[in-house]
Amino acid sequence: MHEHDHHSHDHDDDHGHHHHDNHYSDMQARVRALETLLTEKGLIDPAAIDAIVETYETKVGPRNGAHVVAKAWSEPAFAEWLKEDATAAIASLGYTGRQGEHMRAVFNTPETHNMVVCTLCSCYPWAVLGLPPVWYKAPAYRSRAVINPRAVLEEFGVTLSPEKKIRVWDSTAELRYIVVPERPEGTDGLDQEALAALVTRDSMIGTGLAASPEGGR
Ligand code: FE
Repeated sequence: MHEHDHHSHDHDDDHGHHHHDNHYSDMQARVRALETLLTEKGLIDPAAIDAIVETYETKVGPRNGAHVVAKAWSEPAFAEWLKEDATAAIASLGYTGRQGEHMRAVFNTPETHNMVVCTLCSCYPWAVLGLPPVWYKAPAYRSRAVINPRAVLEEFGVTLSPEKKIRVWDSTAELRYIVVPERPEGTDGLDQEALAALVTRDSMIGTGLAASPEGGR
């Protein structure tokens, strides 16, 4: 039996077809061993690897999600599609693949802020956000995001008005979330590319807000 029987997530199949990140612990161990070996032999520079990982975490990966959000901000029909069937709407832009098979987009509103966590491991929508940040996989985030999301947001520098509700979505192997942040003020004249530049990775996890056009926050 696989090791995920503790999962309370609904599993509609039972033949080991779970794309769980935990399954890669062996692989991760091997990658680390390989990295150590190559470093010792002077073949790679760990700082260069860190830089590559950081690039995929913060730049390359999340640009896909930013495109999705910017399109939703500027095209009401696309926003509607994204709300109804995020998997299909996102796939129409070419963003598909592992860990993005079943997507749901949750939209921030003046009343409600959405935040995403995987309480059990680190399920994450790779197709639109790239690699999960280290903190997303950390036990502290995974437990505290559920228990006290407002305090966690404060630590990320996000202070919401007390009236604003916070909804926390627990990702599973089968269903992953992207937050569509509120469109910032003063962005009426911006095209999709300029809008996408305002969409940060954290704003699509819900631990941040979209940036303001003048470079403020
Ligand atoms: Fe998970």
